[in-house]
Amino acid sequence: MRTCNLLLTAVLLASVSAAAQQPSAQPPAPDATQTAPSSQPAAAATDQPAPAAQATSAPPQAAQPAPATAVPLPPQPAAAPAPTTMDQVVTLFIEREHGLIKVLTNRTPVVETYLQNLVADPQLGPVPSEDHYFLGRMDMGETVDRKDYLKEQETSMQSRLLGGFHKLYKVQYQPLGFSWMVYADRTDFDREHYDFRYARREFLGDVRCLVFDVTPKPKSGRGRFLGRVWVEDQGFNIVRLNGTYQSSVHNTYFFHMDSWRLNLIPGYWVPAYIYSEEGDFSAGVKNKTAFKAQTRIWGYDLKKGGKDDELTQIRVDSVTDESASAQDASPLQAERVWQQQAEDNVVERLTNAGLLAPEGDLDRILQTVVNNLEVTNNIDLPRPVRTRVLLTAPLETFSVGNTIVISKGLVDVLPDEASLAAVLSHELAHIVLGHNLGSKYAFNDRMLFDDDSTYQNLGFKHIPEEEAAADKKALELLKNSPYAQKLDNVGLFLRALQQRAPQLSALLTTHLGNSFEENGTITRLSGLDTQGPALDNNKLDQIAALPLGGRVKINPWDDKAEMVKASPVAITSARDKMPFEVTPFFPRLVRYGTGVAAPAAAPTTAAAAAPSSGN
Ligand SMILES: [Zn+2]
Repeated sequence: MRTCNLLLTAVLLASVSAAAQQPSAQPPAPDATQTAPSSQPAAAATDQPAPAAQATSAPPQAAQPAPATAVPLPPQPAAAPAPTTMDQVVTLFIEREHGLIKVLTNRTPVVETYLQNLVADPQLGPVPSEDHYFLGRMDMGETVDRKDYLKEQETSMQSRLLGGFHKLYKVQYQPLGFSWMVYADRTDFDREHYDFRYARREFLGDVRCLVFDVTPKPKSGRGRFLGRVWVEDQGFNIVRLNGTYQSSVHNTYFFHMDSWRLNLIPGYWVPAYIYSEEGDFSAGVKNKTAFKAQTRIWGYDLKKGGKDDELTQIRVDSVTDESASAQDASPLQAERVWQQQAEDNVVERLTNAGLLAPEGDLDRILQTVVNNLEVTNNIDLPRPVRTRVLLTAPLETFSVGNTIVISKGLVDVLPDEASLAAVLSHELAHIVLGHNLGSKYAFNDRMLFDDDSTYQNLGFKHIPEEEAAADKKALELLKNSPYAQKLDNVGLFLRALQQRAPQLSALLTTHLGNSFEENGTITRLSGLDTQGPALDNNKLDQIAALPLGGRVKINPWDDKAEMVKASPVAITSARDKMPFEVTPFFPRLVRYGTGVAAPAAAPTTAAAAAPSSGN
């Protein structure tokens, strides 16, 4: 019975009634491979502190010291003799696939899916009609399980949205669905259930691959993987899967997916990105179900959640660390130390829950922008302002103490540095005005909760009066700053967001900070929303907002964030703009330890690495 449920969760049901239909024999466990994010591979290789590159003469195992992992890295697979036939290659990658499944069984990564339903627009092509967001932790053990971070929201969404597709998607997703999509077939990926046919060689990024078509054998059961796998030609690991699951069950269908893996640890390529898409907008098509979805997996190195873990994280000495002075603190000093303790607690807790990237290169870019605002406004704070990146897609910023947090999704869609400065200036304004919300989190008992209830236990939403005051102050900061002459772009961004707001309620639903909108109207940075020229889709040089996923890449193993280095591609039609939209992943794959050299030094100016389009 359980297997039956698992099967169904992997299926996008066209009808809930189909759930009653049991797969005849073996429940096919579709193991989808992950799609690697288009920009990730380099990050994976570069971000490892392990001095693998220097230790060229050492055996591979010794050369790759484990990063500071919560769970020890798996031992590298033993090297197999080089295959001489494609048949031997098949044997090897089947073996390696089972090896991967085994080493990931004790991992509980974060899994995020952002989905946009699509409708055809005569000028812009398929555009979002509504969106959905899912975030949780996935247990990759034998008993696949997941815990959702957004329990309340999912419930309310379920009751609020009656759209058939949404309901179906929930049936597919909520229990376990995407857990299956990380592998082609979790239980039966073998020659008894599949035929493998060599197709060709192909490079994916820097990695030479052998491509195989995979088809389920007749009567091997429903829900078997049908598609193509790319196998790298050194360790013979699957690095990409593209296809669907075969189903003959009436009223059900499996959606198509393109799943990428990254070589984030020695010897293994781990699931990182899955792109799913359905929909046919050609004339006369009756099935109106159309969507695009990006699933990202990260936080492989996170500890398993649980109260026991949290108890070990209480830091009763964090106050004394801060006050090395021999004197007692004055009341104001005590207040500041208290606030910093709260700030540190929150930052640490969010990082441990897999929601915040560790401090890294991207923060230095963000801090440069904040610094530009501070210097030109003569802001001198007792403690420096820090920035951190929230790893999630919904557009949000918040601040706790002197730390400004901005979501990955928001950095992605901002068209230029001035827009980045604008959204940061709102939070800097809160800090300058003393709107600190977090001090209650200096009490460590308030940090004792399970990861999946983070959103129920933390919140940094200001009252409307403080929001208005922060917007007013932000405008003042911007007008004195190097960004003063570029605020037209900020206005364009806000209008583009307003234009899409009714269709993007999930992207605009914040989980920790204030929303950009209120009752369908964008309220953030009011005063700038009317600045600049009118939105014009036909002006190809007017880029008001970018698609999701184009700016920030996350290392799914250690959660480090960095800016994507992709060369700009010329826009040739209004359809190329895709503001706030979901696109396929196409990462440049690299082998572990061969990626970019050492992490580059922080840019001296934000302009060097920050958003450049539109300027
Ligand atoms: Zn605010």
